[in-house]
Amino acid sequence: MAQDHNRDRDYGFGTRAIHAGAIPDPVTGARATPIHQTTSFVFDNAEHASSLFNLQTFGNVYSRISNPTVAVLEERVASLEGGRAALACASGMAAQMTALLAILKAGDHIVAASTLYGGSVGQLGLGFERLGIHTTFVDPADPDNFRRAMRPNTRAVYGETLGNPLVNVFDIEAVAAVAHEHGVPLVIDNTVASPYLCNPFAFGADIVVHSATKYLGGHGTTMAGVVVESGKFNWANGNFPDLIEPSRAYHGVKFYETFGDFGYTMKARLEVNRTFGAVLSPLNAWLILQGIETLHLRMLAHCRNAVRVAEFLREHPLVAWVNYPGLSDSPHHALAKKQFRAIDGAPGCSGILTFGIKADDPARAGERFIDACEFLSHLANIGDAKTLVIHPASTTHRQLSEEELKKAGVGPDMVRLSVGIEDVEDILWDIDQALRKAV
Ligand SMILES: *Cc1c(COP(=O)(O)O)cnc(C)c1O
Repeated sequence: MAQDHNRDRDYGFGTRAIHAGAIPDPVTGARATPIHQTTSFVFDNAEHASSLFNLQTFGNVYSRISNPTVAVLEERVASLEGGRAALACASGMAAQMTALLAILKAGDHIVAASTLYGGSVGQLGLGFERLGIHTTFVDPADPDNFRRAMRPNTRAVYGETLGNPLVNVFDIEAVAAVAHEHGVPLVIDNTVASPYLCNPFAFGADIVVHSATKYLGGHGTTMAGVVVESGKFNWANGNFPDLIEPSRAYHGVKFYETFGDFGYTMKARLEVNRTFGAVLSPLNAWLILQGIETLHLRMLAHCRNAVRVAEFLREHPLVAWVNYPGLSDSPHHALAKKQFRAIDGAPGCSGILTFGIKADDPARAGERFIDACEFLSHLANIGDAKTLVIHPASTTHRQLSEEELKKAGVGPDMVRLSVGIEDVEDILWDIDQALRKAV
């Protein structure tokens, strides 16, 4: 089943998570996707070789451009997001970089949410600044903040479905409208929600990026990223001449004219990934594919466990506050309800939540809590089957200035949990015993 649907049926999410993009290997009959651990592919003859290089024939040349195992991952994530085409990259950071460098160059401008993952603030802020691309960060709580920050040279608007670590819900539809008024795409990092809980294209996003390192892989073993294109953005609106004019970087090809609704992905593949080289290995693609086969089951368990943990913390006498959009009194609950898949009658809000401990020195209590956990793992990742815990102000966000920390909403007392899929009674037990030791 290479297609998402046949004549008779549109397949459901779980079926596509297991099958999309893959068919039994026509040569060996292998049912699992083979790991094509090869750099290069033999040409049939000289004419075949030149037609491949001229992009007149689809096929594989060299694994920095395309690889059949990686291609299955690309098709699968495109299917789960309801997108037209996808490109896999070496990590989430590589996917964001590739997604943006496919449409931005020196002198261009981005408007982005100030509540992004710390690494993304670094990439869009400092990293791109060195390339002559400037980013304005705005509070995403009010979509008008994006409108006010738009400039004539703005070429992308950027946000996260669910912020990391604030788990604030991004109003995709409202900000997409702002981006489209200005003729630029909305790029959404859908890492924390995963395509199981939210499809940003359904609300008007144009490009979706993932750190597949997190929920897609799901087991904390493998770095990977994916860029997905909706296929609906009009690149011929005058703002993106590099997609219209002959490419100086690739044989004079006109990407939008030649490839149409997957022209952006082809440009990202041939002008960014091929040139800058942050490509995904076939083995890592295979490990992410293995993870995706259970994405729908894991996300259900992550959401159900996270609701239980959030309710437990809300009632706990040693906890000052808890932030989880799945709680009905969260200010983000209404937007979550609009954008996220319902689970047990409430919006599924993924596994990330934050809380603060009631103590004279809450920052110190946060650190003591983490040290007292028995099986909750203290590390800098999210989206693992295992429950993970971290103190952002002293770790993931320590490179941010005090002002940036404040803008990112990361207080000194904040503890972040990535709730795993262990037995929830055991997770609650570990949190409770660690809280008692922390104060
Ligand atoms: C982890 C993460 C990234 C970066 O992805 P890597 O795979 O670690 O490079 C980007 N965005 C979000 C929301 C993340 O959680």
